[in-house]
Amino acid sequence: MRRILIAIAALALLGIIAYGMFGMGGSSGAGGMIQRDASVNDPPAPAITVRDLDVGQGDATYIHNGDSRVLIDGGPDARRMGFLLDSLGLNNRTMDVVILTHQHSDHYTGLLPLFDSRRHIRIRYFFEDKDPSAASTLARLRDSVISRVQSDSLQYRSTDDPCGDGEAMCTITLRGGATMHIMRPLAAPAKPNNRSVAVKLVGADSGSFTMWIAGDAEHSAIAHFEAEGYAVNPGMKVDVLKADHHGSCNGVTPRYLELTQPTWAVASLGAVNDYGHMHQQAKAEYRNAGVQWYRTDQNGTVTIQSPGLPGSGYTITPSRPGKDLNGPSDRRASARGCAGGDS
Ligand SMILES: [Zn+2]
Repeated sequence: MRRILIAIAALALLGIIAYGMFGMGGSSGAGGMIQRDASVNDPPAPAITVRDLDVGQGDATYIHNGDSRVLIDGGPDARRMGFLLDSLGLNNRTMDVVILTHQHSDHYTGLLPLFDSRRHIRIRYFFEDKDPSAASTLARLRDSVISRVQSDSLQYRSTDDPCGDGEAMCTITLRGGATMHIMRPLAAPAKPNNRSVAVKLVGADSGSFTMWIAGDAEHSAIAHFEAEGYAVNPGMKVDVLKADHHGSCNGVTPRYLELTQPTWAVASLGAVNDYGHMHQQAKAEYRNAGVQWYRTDQNGTVTIQSPGLPGSGYTITPSRPGKDLNGPSDRRASARGCAGGDS
């Protein structure tokens, strides 16, 4: 009984600490921003849910922790993401953080419906590289973001200066107590894939749940993550690695897997794609490093859940069973194909 009471007290304390937190600061943790919009009697639960959404050939990751909601990329299809926003109950909600990892349409097109006025979705922070682009769909998205800056105090941040304080890393505390580190990408000019921002999600502690997400980062961007010191701070070792670049062989290196040491990789891709994803070489590298994988084209949406308490661990559940699966488009990339490929 005594032990139960202590556990309840500890949970309550954790809830109070986590309550209302949504602080952002550079790597020093400076410059907090606190939002309090929940009832004191109703502390948000610390549970973390991450969904690698099945959006076809593209990326979209939705994170929910406490009352905080984060979307990293929106996939290639606005209608599909609109359907997902409906089914996830995200209309009339606040999306605390939206991150466009880099400026390719298979990542940004699905972000458009967030701004449909009929959905009444409020967005607090929008991150992207802000690199010049001639793409009309991206211009539309940027117009929507800028108009929200004016009308709804959206904070529009460059991934090159994610906290707006000159620091390479911006740490955000979500309202359930999880933290998210947003890391400055390889400097411009670089091809869009290599401008992909890296994001590390950490549960209550590293024994709770950790995940690394870095868009379509290819070899030079992956080398940059280590050169920039991210392997030391915030650390790259994680439970789950979002397979960079849809399982392309240019999105993984043996060194990357040595640094991240994931148990699982999750690749987001369409079953029929022109790029040969997942590449045979990438699967071989995962296999050699003892990394198991799920892939959205075969497994559907992959859901990761953690109670969000220190040392609580996590579960990873595909919508359709089977691990380390192959897909109909998988092929061996030529060395040239491995070095190229944009989407
Ligand atoms: Zn992509």
